[in-house]
Amino acid sequence: MKTVKGVKISPGVVCGPIYHFEKGHLAVPRHFIRKEDFEYEMDRLMVAVQSSKDELAQVRDLVMDHLDEDHARIIDAQLLAVQDEEMIKAVKDLMVRERKNISWAYYEVMDEYEKLLLKTESRFFKERSADLRDIKKRVLHHLVGDKDLIHPQITEPSIIVTEKISPGDLIHIDQSLALGLITRYGGFDSHAGILARAFKVPYLSDIGSIDELVSYSEIILDADNEEILLDIDDSVKNRYQARIREFRKYRKQIISDKVANSTGDKVPYHIYLNAGFVNEVKAMNPKLIQGIGLFRTEYLCIERNSIPDEETQFQAYKSVLTKMGKLPVVFRVFDFGRDKLLAMLDMEIIQEDHVFDEWGGIGFLLENPEILKIQLRALLRASVYGNAQIMLPLVMFTDEVKQTVKLLNEIKAELRKAGVSFSQNIELGAMIETSSVLDELDELGKIVDFFSIGTNDLALYLIGSGRTVDLTKNYYHPKIFKAINQVVIAGEKANIPVNICGEMASDPYALIGLTAIGIRSVSVSTSSLDLISKQVSSMDTSHLEHLAELILNDDNAASIYSILMQYHRDFLDQSE
Ligand code: PEP
Ligand code: MG
Repeated sequence: MKTVKGVKISPGVVCGPIYHFEKGHLAVPRHFIRKEDFEYEMDRLMVAVQSSKDELAQVRDLVMDHLDEDHARIIDAQLLAVQDEEMIKAVKDLMVRERKNISWAYYEVMDEYEKLLLKTESRFFKERSADLRDIKKRVLHHLVGDKDLIHPQITEPSIIVTEKISPGDLIHIDQSLALGLITRYGGFDSHAGILARAFKVPYLSDIGSIDELVSYSEIILDADNEEILLDIDDSVKNRYQARIREFRKYRKQIISDKVANSTGDKVPYHIYLNAGFVNEVKAMNPKLIQGIGLFRTEYLCIERNSIPDEETQFQAYKSVLTKMGKLPVVFRVFDFGRDKLLAMLDMEIIQEDHVFDEWGGIGFLLENPEILKIQLRALLRASVYGNAQIMLPLVMFTDEVKQTVKLLNEIKAELRKAGVSFSQNIELGAMIETSSVLDELDELGKIVDFFSIGTNDLALYLIGSGRTVDLTKNYYHPKIFKAINQVVIAGEKANIPVNICGEMASDPYALIGLTAIGIRSVSVSTSSLDLISKQVSSMDTSHLEHLAELILNDDNAASIYSILMQYHRDFLDQSE
């Protein structure tokens, strides 16, 4: 039996067929069909061809009205090609021969034609390949309905195999069909990684090559042991059966225990949840949790491929607040940074500007105040339905927060004037995740109500580790602990709470170090909640005091890691 090694991004073990998603290509539904489905599938193709013909005829009329006969001839050529009998026969033959469903067969035949045209020396034929691409898209849109063909289209439970995946792809997949995920490139702190863990989808990355994988019809993805098993037989499946069943049960499980609110020695501790979808919040039980420490509002945009208008945003925030009742909900205003941006590339506003790397955080929103104003209005209006707090991402300078406060006050005045009510004590927090803001903590502490440390980005700023390409646990880096310690001290000075909402807080070893240096509030993903809650309730802060000194005086990540691991082994393993 063959195995392929990878790097664990999200745990679990599953067995199933592969869905090969080729990013940048149209993502058509692909599955094998039975003989008795042939006729139905061909009928579907003929309906899609007819609808495309009707559309093209309309386009031709428009072209004739507004342009001329020469341009209309381009459409004539497309009209002929879309119903080409030879092409339709080739699709049918492929479907029958290889039992591929019709959208898959159609896609492959058209792809072949396109490649042939591109290979010729003739400029005329090369140009015709663009027509063919156009027809292909048109017919496929009719075949698969109004689904977005950019994202993976899974029609049966499958393990997705792809070079790389964006958060938008993951959001658009029917979660119940995503058995697992395998990518060539990925990262533990990437938003796709964060989402996979939130959705409890086992995910393995850094696979050398995916070419070999995609030739297998069924595989076992054992993310826990960081391997993929190919050419599996019944005996292998039997060996894995118990673990696969266990994992399936775990995936269905929702939070069942009340979240710990203090350590083993009764020191108060907050454990909040990270979220980004209204439905995710609706599934939570407010009686068992303490609130939402990070609601990533930009996921509302990724879901829609656009920025929702004020009313849509208001309804979303209101639903979240209503569900949470008195519990705090920290809404982080849109953060269009890095890999989140990739998920929204079709957004008009983003297409206009190409300085992708610089984008994100409150800086971008202040440069585009219309977006920020609408969001703040929606948040303020919704604030009367619960305990809302507002948080600003990627703050670089105190001045950015001052500008936001000014804008917030202007909007409040407008709302007051219009007789619209809003909460009077809505708190404002700053995310600490850039190196430049670390120099302004004291000044910043005077104007915000809380700090929340985004360790995913902080690692990027402080040690330059790419969040989408590198899995090495950057959290143990001495620079990270020193920076967090600086924030804890500034928080004490300003008498404001300090929270950690990056993935570091979900790491059991890192959590020990964080608690040792004085962190008493974290926000974690739903899938880590149980583990973190158990660990907090079994930690004794008096045992941790000496650890703070050890960690802060160490300048080696590997040695910090081993200190924390040792502590975990000595004190926590037995108590769980
Ligand atoms: C972070 O950077 O740690 C964080 C929580 O924000 P995000 O992951 O959404 O960038
Ligand atoms: Mg961040």
